[in-house]
Amino acid sequence: MGFCNVEGCRGTLVLSLFTIMRRNPRLTGLQPGQVAFTFDDGPNLEANVTPNLLDVLHQHSVKAGFCIVGRQIVRHPDIVRRMSNSGHLLINHTHSHEHPIRQNFATLLDEIQACDREIGAALGVRDYRSEYFRAPFGIVTMAVRRAARHHGLKHVLLSHYGWDTRVGPHNCGSVVDLLIANAKKHDGGMFVFHDGSLCPPKIHEENWNRSTENRSWVPEAIHRVVRELKQHGLEFVPPGTVSTVRSTRPAAAA
Ligand SMILES: [Zn+2]
Repeated sequence: MGFCNVEGCRGTLVLSLFTIMRRNPRLTGLQPGQVAFTFDDGPNLEANVTPNLLDVLHQHSVKAGFCIVGRQIVRHPDIVRRMSNSGHLLINHTHSHEHPIRQNFATLLDEIQACDREIGAALGVRDYRSEYFRAPFGIVTMAVRRAARHHGLKHVLLSHYGWDTRVGPHNCGSVVDLLIANAKKHDGGMFVFHDGSLCPPKIHEENWNRSTENRSWVPEAIHRVVRELKQHGLEFVPPGTVSTVRSTRPAAAA
């Protein structure tokens, strides 16, 4: 997903009307005490991130939602099959992850359909139609709303955005701490982490371990988050089991 910088220009109240953010977890359809995880922009085999993440989720018997990008699915269809076979929810995140502000109804529809074609090809399902959708960057323009409605898609909302795309292995602790604190404070929540990065990988660069494109820390972070939140008494539910219909109530974006 990844939020752009328009928040500062337009104010959080106005922006929230056009994003998937609902600060109160109850407005995402969760009951008190429930936590749902979504992982965006994968699948990603750089440093084996998504397979390792699937191992961690399996270890803790947690079902999550994966907002997958068509152009990544083409490269790693076997991982998409594994997600599906493991009971995780597949969420259409468009084919190219272009910013919705630069797209109209027709191009968005193409993007959604192209992503579905790749999911269908990976799963071996003809005419596959996604049930769930997350707009790139979480931005819901009028065209996004129309295209999603036309395709019969439900938006997967969020209650917290932890800015995990702004950290790498060297400084991820702060966003992990924040996620845990928010989940405890709000008695649950709908969260996002990014297992994928759509920027060109810089794995051979000297500062790879300090790069925000290096998502290798995500599986271990999720291991810690799940362990601590379960100890706190919170229950993990897959996002598809809760209401994902857009609320009309405005809420401040995180
Ligand atoms: Zn994304």
